[in-house]
Amino acid sequence: MLLDVRDLHVEFRTREGVARAVNGVSYAVDEGETLAVLGESGSGKSVTAQAVMGILDVPPGRITGGRVLFRGRDLLTLKDEERRRVRGAEMAMIFQDALSALNPVLTVGDQLGEMFVVHRGMSKKDARARAVELMVRVGIPAAAQRVRDYPHQFSGGMRQRIMIAMALALQPALIIADEPTTALDVTVQAQIMDLLAELQREYRMGLVLITHDLGVVADVADRIAVMYAGRIVESAPVHDLYKAPAHPYTRGLLDSIPRLDRKGRELSAIKGLPPNLMDIPPGCAFHPRCPMARDVCLTDVPPLYEVSGDRGSACHFWRECLHGRS
Ligand code: SF4
Ligand code: MG
Repeated sequence: MLLDVRDLHVEFRTREGVARAVNGVSYAVDEGETLAVLGESGSGKSVTAQAVMGILDVPPGRITGGRVLFRGRDLLTLKDEERRRVRGAEMAMIFQDALSALNPVLTVGDQLGEMFVVHRGMSKKDARARAVELMVRVGIPAAAQRVRDYPHQFSGGMRQRIMIAMALALQPALIIADEPTTALDVTVQAQIMDLLAELQREYRMGLVLITHDLGVVADVADRIAVMYAGRIVESAPVHDLYKAPAHPYTRGLLDSIPRLDRKGRELSAIKGLPPNLMDIPPGCAFHPRCPMARDVCLTDVPPLYEVSGDRGSACHFWRECLHGRS
């Protein structure tokens, strides 16, 4: 297994109290596989990713338990320097906002080239040539000229392509993309998602795709892990999950997006708001919003029940949900 996150716990200590952002998350991604991690903001999906990348080790964020195995080694126990090396060369992250992730005072050619100079010991000239190649690969027109431009001179979609090029530069085994298309308009979103999927296949990378939008992941993900209040509430192969969700929250998400196969059905949003992480409801954290909630849901935290060999649901009544009786 390329990445194997086990029972991860993260909390944030603030003056108002302790926010339990991640409460026992486990997921795994293999080489050449795409895992979509889906959830509303505050569900813990980004925080989990930041813990994996090792960019969370600053207060007030604190990893309070679990393991992050990368090719069998627990990243949480590595020395800082070793951790940095793994992060630089073997895993990379793509963020929502390329403009703030890229350095505004360096040309994109210098930023891309620097990766090769620093990590591969290339000459500036060779690094520049590699930068242009990468820009061509991610679909930037007139790359040989544009390599001299600054980030703000590119459109949002083109900037996102440059960030993808940065992430790809050292051919990492794993890429974590956190809402990589959220800031873009719909047509550009689809293009960027296609590019990511294509590169993922070409380089056989593991890809963790974090999103709040179930609509964008259907065609690119192999598996989906749905997060709510810092836990995974459903984990399944993407087609199984679309066909029949085994958790009421997943069903709510599915019912709130337009789907070609469900034409004419009314869209409905999930009522209510995600919980305050300093005060997560007892029992099933979803119970205040769940149309299927019963007494037991108010007191007993549902474990991740095994629905089938490669599927799990953290709902006491997953069977009824799966079979559409609610
Ligand atoms: Fe709803 Fe209960 Fe299932 Fe939670 S455990 S999702 S409240 S039915
Ligand atoms: Mg986020």
